[in-house]
Amino acid sequence: MNIDSIKNGIVIDHIGAKKGMEIYEALHLKDLDCAVAIITNAKSEKMGKKDIIKIDQDINIDMEVIGFIEPNATINIVKDGKLIEKRGVQLPEKIVNLAKCQNPRCITSIEKDLDQIFTLTDKENQVYRCKYCEMNLK
Ligand code: ZN
Repeated sequence: MNIDSIKNGIVIDHIGAKKGMEIYEALHLKDLDCAVAIITNAKSEKMGKKDIIKIDQDINIDMEVIGFIEPNATINIVKDGKLIEKRGVQLPEKIVNLAKCQNPRCITSIEKDLDQIFTLTDKENQVYRCKYCEMNLK
């Protein structure tokens, strides 16, 4: 892949089409001072279409956030214009405040200060269950 626009930074590749923006928002990339590029609908032999995010700075990114939104993503670490590391992500076992429980009777719907905690109960189908009311996340 083309990494020529980045000297030191991170390229998040193999993001499903249209999920790039979701990851951009979830990682709060708009708060960075460095250049961030989102490429949408890039051609991919494997996926048909994909999104790519390029971050022109070596920041600490939250792999769990990326894994939750796009478990097939690849993280490429670029240093001095060279790809030095490729990392996969995986579905996190537990997510905190990445999603909201949809159950109106759930305690998190009433107690707004409570953390929204979900645990992975079915890896195959990416099913997460609310820690409090045990309703599945849709
Ligand atoms: Zn709940």
